[in-house]
Amino acid sequence: MNTLAEIKVDTVPVWIDGKPLRPVGRLGDVYNPATGAVIKNVIFADADVVDAAVQAATRAFPAWRDTPPLRRARVMQAFLELLRQNQKALAAIVTEEHGKTLPDALGSVQRGIEVVEFACGIPQLLKGEHSENVGTRVDTHTLRQPVGVCAGITPFNFPVMVPLWMFPVAIACGNTFVLKPSEKVPSASILMAQLFRQAGLPDGVLNVVHGDKAAVDAILNHPGIHAVSFVGSTPIARYVYEACARTGKRVQALGGAKNHAVVLPDADLEFAANALIGAAYGSAGERCMAISAVVAVGAAADPLVKLIAEKAKAVRIGPGDQNGVDMGPLITAEHRNRVAGFIEAGKKEGAKVIVDGSREPLQGGFFLGTTLFDFVTPQMEVYKNEIFGPVLVVLRVNTLEEAIVLVNNNPYANGTAIFTESGGAARRFENEIEVGMVGVNVPIPVPAAFYSFGGWKNSLFGDLHVHGSEGVKFYTRTKAVTTRWPHQGTPAPGFNMPTLG
Ligand code: NAD
Repeated sequence: MNTLAEIKVDTVPVWIDGKPLRPVGRLGDVYNPATGAVIKNVIFADADVVDAAVQAATRAFPAWRDTPPLRRARVMQAFLELLRQNQKALAAIVTEEHGKTLPDALGSVQRGIEVVEFACGIPQLLKGEHSENVGTRVDTHTLRQPVGVCAGITPFNFPVMVPLWMFPVAIACGNTFVLKPSEKVPSASILMAQLFRQAGLPDGVLNVVHGDKAAVDAILNHPGIHAVSFVGSTPIARYVYEACARTGKRVQALGGAKNHAVVLPDADLEFAANALIGAAYGSAGERCMAISAVVAVGAAADPLVKLIAEKAKAVRIGPGDQNGVDMGPLITAEHRNRVAGFIEAGKKEGAKVIVDGSREPLQGGFFLGTTLFDFVTPQMEVYKNEIFGPVLVVLRVNTLEEAIVLVNNNPYANGTAIFTESGGAARRFENEIEVGMVGVNVPIPVPAAFYSFGGWKNSLFGDLHVHGSEGVKFYTRTKAVTTRWPHQGTPAPGFNMPTLG
């Protein structure tokens, strides 16, 4: 077994065929965003390294595909146990490389672990169907078979959870896998690959390569990869989707978001404001399900903005591994400056600054305070763009109907929430809103692992969401087998189209 101690901590390797490798090539920097220091290097894979990973996955596929589903599930159960034992270690890596607070990181690892719990039960979902006598003494059954070698390309903001949305489900279904995590947060994937091997996963079933566009393009162009799962920003999601469509690969590409919370005047505003603070500023707003726009309806607006402002000013900012911190730094200096640029743009375009995040920059790391804008309009850049930082904008409308039109006009459609005491209003919202995941008095409605996660419109290119039954559908394909046995009085096939007429 390879242990962490055997791996040089200063250079994060790739993981191919059950072992860490350090091929010569380009290196990238990995930062601790709380200090701004480079803490590691990561090896960027080129096309040859990606090819080595695909070849390992291709070699491992026939035996893994034919391993009985329950035996695969037992390996998954052992992996689940090791993940539980290493939950704190994984969370510490997330905090060190991403910056989110330790309790938040622990929660995100837990949500990933729940997908592995779901994956342990996948044999139940691999069952086919059978019909006797679809014709005279002719039977039909279906098989649900793995797709082959699958790839996953993941973003920086959930270094454990988002990879766990993908590879456990694919592998439980009998596929082999090449994971390309974000080059900004590469270490957790290597630890997970080690743990999976320790759990008994055969070499080559899970491989990890790192890198940037060169590695992604090598995956997209590789004829040995049959399905690609992507999670990241909308422009790259569209690019991945189009590339896969051109080469005939199965693809699900989850993109960016602008998630709205509609707050009606009858809502418990204290409850709503508390929920919105966590949803907007938790993980420094670097969540694809973060609430970044509040749609305040009628008389809700003035008291709600007052409550959010008080709470936004009280958010404690600092390194994520320190006690009592609510919000850590942003991922890189470049991203911090981009978010700060949006704050300046918002001021210039006439949004009213209620809380200014650039007010108290902490030294050393990529920190930014919480920002709240009021009287934002749909034409403003702070509304039109996914800022992906601790910036919350408030738009004011007069009716629920106006709120629904506003949300439905937005090109993103990942998550949304309504805050109200009215069952009728909530039901109407749920029915008419054109968004993939909806919360009723729940600000971040991420479905449990046995449901499926995904948005609509520019938040998802493809047809199937991740994990749950849609994840299993994505990583399998069905085959329909029609059977007839001679010498049993079965009519012989003729020249004409067979019918039951
Ligand atoms: P990103 O699109 O920059 O990167 C995602 C992945 O694509 C990374 O592995 C990266 O190496 C790769 N990549 C980056 N540029 C590329 C290029 N030009 N060509 C090919 N590959 C490229 O996203 P990010 O900044 O890592 O993550 C933040 C984004 O992810 C946000 O937009 C957020 O909303 C989105 N996100 C969406 C979901 C969801 O479920 N819809 C979940 C998490 C994050």
